[in-house]
Amino acid sequence: MKPLPKSLWASTATPPVTYPPLAAHVAADCVIVGGGFTGLSTALHLAERGVRVVLIEANEPGWGASGRNGGQVIPGLKLGPSEMRAKYGDERGRRLTTTVGATADLVFDLINRHNIDCDAVRNGWIQGAPGPKGMAEVQSRVEEWSAEGADVAALDADEVRARVGGGDYVGAYLHRGGGTVNPLSYARGLARAAAAAGAQIHGDSRALSLERVGQSWKVSTSGGSVTAPKAVLCTNGYTDNLWPGLAETVIPVLSSVVATEPLSDNLRKMILPGREGVSETRRVLNWFSIDGKGRLVFGGRANQEETEDPNAFSPVMARLKSLMPILGEPRIQFRWAGHVAITTDHVPHLNELAPNLYAGLGYNGRGVAMSTMMGKLLADRVGGARAEDIPFPTTSIERIPFHGWRATGIALAIGWKRLQDRLNP
Ligand SMILES: Cc1cc2nc3c(=O)[nH]c(=O)nc-3n(C[C@H](O)[C@H](O)[C@H](O)COP(=O)(O)OP(=O)(O)OC[C@H]3O[C@@H](n4cnc5c(N)ncnc54)[C@H](O)[C@@H]3O)c2cc1C
Repeated sequence: MKPLPKSLWASTATPPVTYPPLAAHVAADCVIVGGGFTGLSTALHLAERGVRVVLIEANEPGWGASGRNGGQVIPGLKLGPSEMRAKYGDERGRRLTTTVGATADLVFDLINRHNIDCDAVRNGWIQGAPGPKGMAEVQSRVEEWSAEGADVAALDADEVRARVGGGDYVGAYLHRGGGTVNPLSYARGLARAAAAAGAQIHGDSRALSLERVGQSWKVSTSGGSVTAPKAVLCTNGYTDNLWPGLAETVIPVLSSVVATEPLSDNLRKMILPGREGVSETRRVLNWFSIDGKGRLVFGGRANQEETEDPNAFSPVMARLKSLMPILGEPRIQFRWAGHVAITTDHVPHLNELAPNLYAGLGYNGRGVAMSTMMGKLLADRVGGARAEDIPFPTTSIERIPFHGWRATGIALAIGWKRLQDRLNP
């Protein structure tokens, strides 16, 4: 079992519960592999319906991206309502719009319903636009989501500067339904709620094989096995070779984060006094927020190696200093990184890998809210809903060509996107 990275969240989250490793051969109605938001939400929603569910996690619940992210609860996908209708047709596009528009509601409802102590703040999500291309996106997003009844607005340069206390934005999109959480506390709270509802959770239990046995799926670990008629893989950017080809459907990109020491009272009055989450319309973007003790959490793209070496975080530090000059030389308390799973079509995937074997993954850095919703949809499907009743299209897996060359591909794509960001911001 690998320890959590030495992140801000690992040091400030609610205490972990130890879930014992799987040590027997057990039968269930559904076996879930992966204990991040996707797996935990699937387990919770199934257990609440009385389904016997066993979840196995290689490390501890929340160890993956779910316990390392920026904690920004972002409603919606990168695709807007009209793009969803164009891509999926009118009827499915509308259902999908309703579903992705409700993802943040689902997160905050679960937090309330299960009393999850995770420093939840629902004061909005800001997406800053550094230039005309970004501002055009903001305007069309505001128009489209307002028409859907979402609580959104466009901010001008002065308004966004007053809220953010920095940035180089000519304006921004504000979704008042977004917010922030301590993501590791949220994951631990989901695990506690799922276990209380009857889900059996095992940490330190890597799934080593997955095979069809009669009408069931059998997942084996070094200590035991789970046999169930239905199985769900929720391994996202940490997908290994448990199911052939699944890892090649997403590109795992390392995203790096730094957290400052708590800011002075003076700075706290200027930098995000409302504690909104902030991201950008840039193609290679940075994002930031303020934690409960007034630390600035700032993330973005650095390198492709997971390391604690401060030098590896210099691209993130350079962006932090240029966007927040008011900080001077920021004093950093925590540095960590995690894998974001990118899809080439920019939408998450709900795969049916084989009969009664499902996977949900590929949130493109917007998974706090979306993966929670995906878990609910996966639970619906496992619970008997037909594929056509699920708003997300159910697809078989499509491997990304030249996946083995992804490191080179990522470097080239990022260089190209940075150039576009400069030429057409
Ligand atoms: C640095 C960073 C910042 C981000 N910021 C944001 C943000 O601010 N807002 C937002 O919406 N999204 C953000 N994201 C994305 C978000 O964190 C993810 O989309 C979301 O957590 C995905 O959850 P998941 O459960 O699908 O995957 P994960 O949380 O990655 O969980 C997968 C789990 O599967 C387990 N696993 C893998 N293989 C096996 C196996 N064989 N057997 C058993 N277990 C296995 C792993 O140990 C892991 O715990 C960020 C991601 C990162 C990395």
